[in-house]
Amino acid sequence: MYSWVSNEPLAVRFPALFGLEKCKTVTVSDRLRADGTGWNWEWKRAVLDGGESAELQQLVALIGVASLSNRQDEWRWELDGSGIFTVQSVKKKLQVQRLSIVPYVVTRNSWVPRKVEIMAWRAELDRLPTRCALLRRNINVATDLCPLCGDFPETAEHLFVNCGFAQAVWHVVSQWCKIPPIYAFGIRDILEIHKYVTGSVKARKAIYAICLTSLWCVWKCRNEAVFNNTLWSLQKVIGEIKTLSLLWVKARARQQHLDWVVWGAFSLYKIGW
Ligand SMILES: [Zn+2]
Repeated sequence: MYSWVSNEPLAVRFPALFGLEKCKTVTVSDRLRADGTGWNWEWKRAVLDGGESAELQQLVALIGVASLSNRQDEWRWELDGSGIFTVQSVKKKLQVQRLSIVPYVVTRNSWVPRKVEIMAWRAELDRLPTRCALLRRNINVATDLCPLCGDFPETAEHLFVNCGFAQAVWHVVSQWCKIPPIYAFGIRDILEIHKYVTGSVKARKAIYAICLTSLWCVWKCRNEAVFNNTLWSLQKVIGEIKTLSLLWVKARARQQHLDWVVWGAFSLYKIGW
């Protein structure tokens, strides 16, 4: 939230002066001279040298640069030139912030093999050899189109997030894990789902392991299509995700009671998770 002249209320920014102000609920127009040439301060007593007068100097300098009009006050959305809220402007701001901060660190998950974590990390960094990535490196590929849908250029984000095939995978995964539908803008959103779902620590770790396994299986499915010309059905990919994740989690979580019945229904409460 921004106030009219600063990114915080004047009462917060100039606490000594606020203490001196006679009317704590005063408006800007109450203090503005009718001819707009200056200010009608109403202090409880004279402003003293030192902190108070320093604040007053800063305040006058700050409001001196503000331009005031006779219009009614209104709220403006600062992230869009039109002043009106748009989802697009929030998305843009988030993307810029993501780019400016330190590289994203994929949270470790000891229930999947290291190679799976590394693959997910490379996907998030856009370092997988997708068709678009190869073309960027001037490597000759016959087409840049996604091998799973054939409709859009194959970037990592398309393959794992926007592709109709990937969306179908996430739809089934969310139903299986009994979590809200997965709506992702990027691979990072997939990697963070486990942080925002309800459930025990172990159940959320299992959901994270499943998301990592799903990324692994979509990549495997993509490689089958590219190198073996075989298009897996959605059912086959889901079967692969369930089987591999059970195998890995059962062994790595050292959980003998975890079996196909519990895992297939995702009824982890039965084994105390
Ligand atoms: Zn696609």
